[in-house]
Amino acid sequence: MSKDWKTRTQLVHQGSRRSQYGEMAEAIFLTQGFAYDSAENAEARFLVPQDDEFVYARYGNPTTRMFEERIATVEGCEDAFATASGMAAVSGALMAMLKAGDHVVAARALFGSCLYVLENILQRYGVLVDFVDGTDLSAWERAITANTKAVFFETMSNPTLEVIDIKEVACLAHAKGALVLVDNVFSTPIFSRAVDLGADVIIYSTTKHIDGQGRALGGVICGTKAFIRGVVEPYLKHTGGAMSPFTSWIMLNGMVTLDLRCRAMATSALEIALSLQGDARLSKVIYPGLDTHPQAALVALQMGSGGTMISFELAGGKEAAFTFMNGLKIIKISNNLGDAKSIATHPATTTHSRLPQDQKDLLGISYGLIRLSVGLEDPLDLIDDIKSGLNLI
Ligand SMILES: *Cc1c(COP(=O)(O)O)cnc(C)c1O
Repeated sequence: MSKDWKTRTQLVHQGSRRSQYGEMAEAIFLTQGFAYDSAENAEARFLVPQDDEFVYARYGNPTTRMFEERIATVEGCEDAFATASGMAAVSGALMAMLKAGDHVVAARALFGSCLYVLENILQRYGVLVDFVDGTDLSAWERAITANTKAVFFETMSNPTLEVIDIKEVACLAHAKGALVLVDNVFSTPIFSRAVDLGADVIIYSTTKHIDGQGRALGGVICGTKAFIRGVVEPYLKHTGGAMSPFTSWIMLNGMVTLDLRCRAMATSALEIALSLQGDARLSKVIYPGLDTHPQAALVALQMGSGGTMISFELAGGKEAAFTFMNGLKIIKISNNLGDAKSIATHPATTTHSRLPQDQKDLLGISYGLIRLSVGLEDPLDLIDDIKSGLNLI
C-alpha cells in the first residue's frame, strides 16, 4: 500500500487487510468482539491497543478499519472514523469537539438535519451558533470571533448548488484559531481536495456517492490522527454511532468504482444541463459546471468539474413541477443522491418542507425548483426522459 498511488489505485487497494487465507475480496468480519490469547493479552489490549488490534466493534472492526484507511488516504487525511450514518458523522464531529459557551459559525444553506443539529441540539447544550450566507466572505469575517471554535459548511449547498470558497473561509477561520469542518457530500471525494484547501475535518454521508447504489446508510469523519483518535473516537465509541462491518464492506466496494462513477455522472450532468439551457419552460438552470454559474471560476479552481447534481426551476411553479415529475419514466422520484439511478426531488415539499417560507425564499427554494441527481444511465435517455416530462406541462 502506498500513499503515493494515484486515487484510482488507492480506491481499489488502499486499506486492504488479508487474513491468513489470502482472500482476494475484502473480508466481512461480522463480529462484535475478539478473543484474546490470554488474560494478559486482554489487559494489554485494553491498556494500549496497537494498530491492528481490536477490542469491540463499537470501538473498531477490521472491515471498518479497511474502509477508514481507504477513505482517509483518498482524502489526503491521516485518519478517519466511520459512522452509522452521515448524520452520526456530522453530529459526532461537532458534539465531540464542542462544549457549552463555544461559538460556531455555519453557512445558512444546510441539509435539513445538519441545520437541526446546529440550530436545536447544539444550542440546547449552550453552544452559540451564528448562521451566515456561505458565499459572502465578509459575513464570515464579521461572524468569526476569538471565541469561535468551529466553522461548518457544505462545500456545495443543497439544493441551489452554491459553492463555498474553502480556501478563503479556512483563512478567516484559522486566523481566529477555529477549526474548519466541511460536509463535502455534494462535491464528492473525487472532485474536491478540501484538505489541500485548508479544511481540517471532512465529513461524508457515505449513503450518497460512496455507496452509490442506494443500499446502506453510512458516514465518515476524516481528519488528523490527533482529532480522529483524540477527539472523535472517545465520543463516538462511547455514544455508539459506529458503522456496522457489513456496511463498511458495502462502502469499501463502493469506493472501488467511485472515481469512474462520479466522472461518468458529471459528464452526463453537463450534457443534460447544456440541453436544458435556454428552454423557455425553465426559469433557471443551475449547474456548477456551466459558464453561467455565478461562481464558475471558483468551481473550476476548487473542483475542476461541475459535479453530479443539477437544479432547475420550472416557470409554472409547483403544479408544473409535479406534472413534470409524474411524467418521468426513467428518473425516479426520491430523495437520495449520488445513486446509480437518476433521482428527481422536489425540495420545497420534501427535504426542505419544514423550513419556514421566509427561509425558503432566502435560500431560493421555490415551488418550481427540481433537484436532479444524475445517475449512470445513458445521458441521451435521461435527456429524452426530461424533455418528455417537460412536454406534459
Ligand atoms: C444525506 C446528507 C447528510 C446526512 O446523511 P445520512 O447518511 O442521511 O445520515 C448530511 N449532509 C448532506 C449534505 C447530505 O446530503
